[in-house]
Amino acid sequence: MNESTPVSAIKGVGSKTEEGFQKLGVYSVGDMLSYFPRDYVELPPIGLFPEKEGQLQALFLRVDGTPLTRRGRRMEVTTAQGRDGQFIVQLVWFRMSYIRKMLRSGQCYVFYGRLVKRGTSYAMEQPRVYKREDYEEARRRMIPVYPVAQGVKSTQLARAVKEIFNDRDLFINENLPEELCLRHDLVPRLSALRMIHQPADKEELITGRKRLVFEEFFFFLLGMGLLKEQTGKEKNRFLLKEDGFTEALVEKLPFDLTKAQEKVLSEMKTDLHSEHLMNRLLQGDVGSGKTILAFLLMAELSHNGYQSALMVPTEVLAAQHYETFLSLEKTLGLAFPVILLTGNMKAAEKKEKQRLIAETEGALVIGTHALFQEKVNFKNLALAVTDEQHRFGVLQREALSEKGEKPHILVMSATPIPRTLAIILYGDLDISVIDELPKNRLPIKNCVVNTSWREKAYHFIEKEVAAGHQAYVICPLVEESENLEAEDVVSYAATLSEHLPDTVKVEYLHGRMSGAEKTEKMERFAAGETDVLVSTTVIEVGINVPNATVMMVENAERFGLAALHQLRGRVGRGDAQSYCIFINTGDEEKNKRLEILNKSNDGFYIASEDLKLRGPGDFMGVRQSGDLGFVLADIYQDASVLSAASEEAKRILEEDPRLSHIENEMLNRQLEKEQQRLLSRLNL
Ligand code: ADP
Ligand code: MG
Repeated sequence: MNESTPVSAIKGVGSKTEEGFQKLGVYSVGDMLSYFPRDYVELPPIGLFPEKEGQLQALFLRVDGTPLTRRGRRMEVTTAQGRDGQFIVQLVWFRMSYIRKMLRSGQCYVFYGRLVKRGTSYAMEQPRVYKREDYEEARRRMIPVYPVAQGVKSTQLARAVKEIFNDRDLFINENLPEELCLRHDLVPRLSALRMIHQPADKEELITGRKRLVFEEFFFFLLGMGLLKEQTGKEKNRFLLKEDGFTEALVEKLPFDLTKAQEKVLSEMKTDLHSEHLMNRLLQGDVGSGKTILAFLLMAELSHNGYQSALMVPTEVLAAQHYETFLSLEKTLGLAFPVILLTGNMKAAEKKEKQRLIAETEGALVIGTHALFQEKVNFKNLALAVTDEQHRFGVLQREALSEKGEKPHILVMSATPIPRTLAIILYGDLDISVIDELPKNRLPIKNCVVNTSWREKAYHFIEKEVAAGHQAYVICPLVEESENLEAEDVVSYAATLSEHLPDTVKVEYLHGRMSGAEKTEKMERFAAGETDVLVSTTVIEVGINVPNATVMMVENAERFGLAALHQLRGRVGRGDAQSYCIFINTGDEEKNKRLEILNKSNDGFYIASEDLKLRGPGDFMGVRQSGDLGFVLADIYQDASVLSAASEEAKRILEEDPRLSHIENEMLNRQLEKEQQRLLSRLNL
């Protein structure tokens, strides 16, 4: 096997499994090896620990009697009783009647799951069942947990990966020069891949990951350097009237801009009037009010007859910005054309929008990345703004200029990147920071609690809804899967509405719904027609419903602090007091990390504290720099690898800016791949 071998050639992968893998974007052995685990579990020793109630435990139990399956109200339930000396444990499985055949009365098995107290006895829901020797064997390794979706199970991925590494003829290309690996203590690529998928211990995991992170940074930086070399600083050809148009708009806003917003606005206006094109990163914590600034700039350009575009990562966010822009125009008495274009539109509608974009002077265009993917031609694009997507935002200048467009570039992000790192990543970019929240905001009140608080939280939501507010509840996964910890959005929403009075309208939202459906549900929530929105993290980025005052996050311990901070940023956007409830379903230890959020509402502080708390190798599931688009690398955690990779990339680029003399064929190929990947995201 090699990297381009199709997954169907892997032992044990039939056509159905293959189809599932393909839905995850995994077509080849190479894809499979780049589909990294999101976490690893180390199984606990066998034994019942009453003091660790609520945590994952492994019990060696004798099965009393025959297991039973019955149809419950919503699903099929299988139960069995297990015994450990004086303890009795009720074992419960949902939609897993085949478990019955696996268990014999009077035999002993290891049951691994979350142990909860039920009156005087104990219960375990959805435990995994092992033979004792299999459990002991599994305990010796770190078990990879893969991100799952589309009905594919983590165990299926793990099995396929195992088969790949079992192949003695497996050939994996090396893509870094040997001397570079020696200099930075990097293991060969094949070893690194094995170490990240099947680490024998933490040490190996760290070693393997370091090499792959280096690779990720290195090719990103080389690719960026190369693109930059091909473009360079551009002259500003967009003439603007000096008639105080923006200032007049600011006067008419229903609120005063904060000092920080004013400062940033004037920096950006200076750019628009200067000799060179703007190329700026605007950082501002969640809720600091970036959208209005983008709107003001875009309106200014419309006023001068130019087009501008705002690009966002999700359809939901695009639709929301569109509504915001329309209502801002109404408030300000403007009538510039606003055009929305998203990937989920029907072909005919898209075509019509594309025609409008090609013809309408002075239009404000809003869209997802489909804006680029669909070969859009602008009439006279003067400014491209990207919201919440650092990495591609910065590449956009290059991408656009290859299409013959040379607009001003503005990248907006809530991910706090220290200046030193931003310089490594983006070189010549100017940076503005909004370091102040609007005055009408009350600090969000936070709490980190365990599952026994759920009932109270529901009551609290009920109370807030009765007072005319709205609430979000976040669940991590869409479907009941083998991940015992996960709550399922759909059934969660059903359970939640059973707990709440009929007058409270509960809706749900998840990533597997169609774009139109998502947008519709989001719009209903924004319009106040729904009171509680149960959702996955699709709403993490950018969503703005100022009337929502409660954010409740289930399985909070499973999220990175940056993601949680983003989620929290969905409330506290108006003048009412807002609340954030983090439910920790993990152990007490996890509370420490969550406490950081409890203490502060400041994104920069949170990122740095989180880093201090984590040891080396403690990085899984806690990526900070989400919107940078790296797969493994985390610019905070891996800052030293980033600077090493940057030095190597710089050295190479200085000697050979166009990389025309690279002799290492592998390096060349990888570079081409990276560039293609970067550009294909913008599809040129
Ligand atoms: P973000 O920076 O997270 O993108 P938004 O731009 O969505 O934040 O703004 C959040 C909310 O704050 C919006 O409802 C917006 O209208 C409001 N807002 C923005 N600036 C101010 C201000 N200076 N005073 C009061 N409210 C503001
Ligand atoms: Mg925003």
